[in-house]
Amino acid sequence: MSPKAPITQDVMTIPRKLPEGKINLVGLTRDQLREVLIEYGTPEKQAKMRTGQIWQWIYQWGVRDFAEMTNLAKAYRAQLDENFVIEIPEVVTRQVSEDGTRKYLCRIAGGHEVEVVYIPEEDRGTLCISSQVGCTLTCSFCHTGTQKLVRNLTAAEIVGQVMMARDDLEEWPVPGAPKDETRLLSNIVLMGMGEPLYNFENVRDAMKIAMDPEGISLSRRRITLSTSGVVPEIARTAEEIGCLLAISFHATTDETRDVLVPINKRWNIEELLQALASYPKASNSERITFEYVMLDGVNDSDEDAHRLIDHIKRHNIPAKINLIPFNEWPGAPYKRSSNNRIRAFANIIYQAGYASPIRKTRGEDIMAACGQLKSATERARKSRKQIEAEAGLQR
Ligand code: SAH
Ligand code: SF4
Repeated sequence: MSPKAPITQDVMTIPRKLPEGKINLVGLTRDQLREVLIEYGTPEKQAKMRTGQIWQWIYQWGVRDFAEMTNLAKAYRAQLDENFVIEIPEVVTRQVSEDGTRKYLCRIAGGHEVEVVYIPEEDRGTLCISSQVGCTLTCSFCHTGTQKLVRNLTAAEIVGQVMMARDDLEEWPVPGAPKDETRLLSNIVLMGMGEPLYNFENVRDAMKIAMDPEGISLSRRRITLSTSGVVPEIARTAEEIGCLLAISFHATTDETRDVLVPINKRWNIEELLQALASYPKASNSERITFEYVMLDGVNDSDEDAHRLIDHIKRHNIPAKINLIPFNEWPGAPYKRSSNNRIRAFANIIYQAGYASPIRKTRGEDIMAACGQLKSATERARKSRKQIEAEAGLQR
């Protein structure tokens, strides 16, 4: 699809009902896959080899049908087919923006829907994936935050979003064909719906699969996890996933951050900065991204810019600051800062010696921009009571 292509929307209904009782192999770690194969009759002595073979079929070649796994005996393939499936989320709608951004609405078990966004750029292609249906947190500028949490996604549903996009981009390699080094899907950001660190294990397992060299094989440096600041899980992210980190910072005083990013009431700015300062991978080549949404008259003053720099310097955090022009959504209680204000803010940060890119807004015409994701079936705004009850649960 060329970047200039007109907006299109096609509705696909691919009924992929799971036959009762079959186990989905997608999303299992290598160890789990091995265990399940043994449990269903693969001799223990062969299990390691079979795990490797099946793994490659699923994640390297994108195969979904056991019959195509030609290096396995026919009888064994039939046995696999009896017990297992290779199942990923089903695409319900796909919209293509005039700038080439693609937004998919995917259906997962239980009839829930999640959004996935593909953003093509000159030198890379980034897939923005979701980790939860909705979010338990209630950041006041975020559209997803107005949606009740429905559930955590499974590891299969998380890595399945990547597989779904590779299907759509027709990016699975063809056996025997020369290796094409330019990948359409080269980066993953966990910046869709949900707070990834409130679904840690599933996010970890899914990202480990995406990084596995015998499969999708994305480098850990091409995966960025964005968190609103779940402080106790930050060190664990470095240890157990090893990807890059982005922080939804958005405010420079606790007073303002308490309102914009209410998790701040649980772990405040100082605690967050301390956790970031000791993020083991934080070096100049792997800087932490501070995401900062520009809200008119709320967090966009020169004093804010100076305070932001002061926080980062005081803790000596290798950082870049990503300024995000606020993406307005119907009923949003904020306005986007003016371009001049954003530029002035960026300049203060730049003068202080930090990169301060202003995020280009992509896919606005299809509501695919950052923070606008929200599934069509879940439009109802939460009541204040619900918000308070859920906030209480998190603490
Ligand atoms: N829950 C995680 C990841 C998903 S949000 C987190 O909060 O970090 C991805 C990014 O989009 C976050 O930085 C979030 O603060 C930002 N965002 C949310 N709503 C937005 C909006 N309306 N306009 C611009 N950015 C927004
Ligand atoms: Fe949840 Fe992130 Fe939105 Fe906050 S910004 S409500 S943590 S998705």
